[in-house]
Amino acid sequence: MGRDFSQSLALFERASRVIPGGIYGHTTPAAVLPGRSPYYAVRASGSRYWDVDGNEYIDYMCGYGPIVLGHGHPGVEEAAERQRREALCVNHPGPVMIELAEYLVDRVDFASWAVFGKNGSDMTTWAIQVAREQTKRKKILKIAGAYHGIAPWCTPGHAGVIEEDTAHIHTFPWNDLDAFTARLKEFRGEIAGVILTPFHHPAFSPSILPADGFLRGVEEACRREGIVIILDDIRAGFRLHHGGSHRYFGFEPDLICFCKAIANGHPLSAALGRKDLRIAASKVFLTGSYWNSPPPMAASLACLQLLEKENGVEIMKIRGQALMDGLTAAGAKHGYTILSSGPPAIPYPTFADDADFRRQQRFCAEVTARGAFFHPHHNWFLSTAHTEADIAETVRIAEEAFAVVREIEVSQK
Ligand code: PMP
Repeated sequence: MGRDFSQSLALFERASRVIPGGIYGHTTPAAVLPGRSPYYAVRASGSRYWDVDGNEYIDYMCGYGPIVLGHGHPGVEEAAERQRREALCVNHPGPVMIELAEYLVDRVDFASWAVFGKNGSDMTTWAIQVAREQTKRKKILKIAGAYHGIAPWCTPGHAGVIEEDTAHIHTFPWNDLDAFTARLKEFRGEIAGVILTPFHHPAFSPSILPADGFLRGVEEACRREGIVIILDDIRAGFRLHHGGSHRYFGFEPDLICFCKAIANGHPLSAALGRKDLRIAASKVFLTGSYWNSPPPMAASLACLQLLEKENGVEIMKIRGQALMDGLTAAGAKHGYTILSSGPPAIPYPTFADDADFRRQQRFCAEVTARGAFFHPHHNWFLSTAHTEADIAETVRIAEEAFAVVREIEVSQK
């Protein structure tokens, strides 16, 4: 079974003449499946989207996370449009910024203030500055292999980065409290902050949940040493717990960064913090050309209110669990062991015994060819628009894909 991607390929060729790399960053075809995956999309609605060749997909990437209520949710779009008609870009913030800050501060238990940006990197980079301002220390600890954005201190790329950019950034492995303690000893009195995601979700390997006591252990040590704990909840925020993912895993940070699901696709990010960081937060310069724009804030308020009212977190958990269970059972019918990594709302199923990802790539390509978009190397996302029928259709598609992968593997023996 094949799908036509000729328009995607033709556009990519055109793009390559005028855009370095054609498509850059995480959506580069090199990170998915060159020639077996769409490169350009033209339309999206609810749980589905359509590529430039007219192929339809059940969407399990949700724009890499932002789409939490489904594409084009009318409640969010109407709120954004109403605000856009009033004011798009003006000389002052709008009242909606305060309303949104109040809403967020009410929901996030430890926070007493909020600020806004556009992208996740804006907030993680600002947050480490706040930690440095608060403590008057230089060093930041992060988890090896964790992604926090594209700023020079954290980019996974090497080009254009000088050693001074990361001179005070030090890593330790996820779930390794001993290594963390060793870092604390090595840099006693010099560490401003620790930045962590609520669970470990590196590309090209299964997600890893926090081990018992890991996050609490980090928290306790940080409290003793006066180190600021920054929770990078950009990917997981509002999918695991409506009050921040620390509530899902049972610990408490000092600062939390949100983006992705905060406004159902409208450009907005936020950082919230504890009362005692308020002065440092007010000193670290924070602005951008579009950062006061009210429509994304109106979209965010509508998105979060709807998500809360519909108990979106629970819906995504149920649908995600059904998807993981369905894939595990379908895989087993064809002799495959599926590793269900990550929480159900942000699942990342992979194959056991597939060190070079070949099986995963083949499987995702076969699923994509049948109308559900699975990314081979990045965790997936559920939205509240995914219906039981979507999951059932996806599992049926996946079962066909498992059968095809098995056939190919048998024929190659
Ligand atoms: N932190 C995490 C955990 C992320 O997943 C991302 C985005 N994938 C970022 C930070 C950076 O966010 P942005 O791409 O919006 O700058």
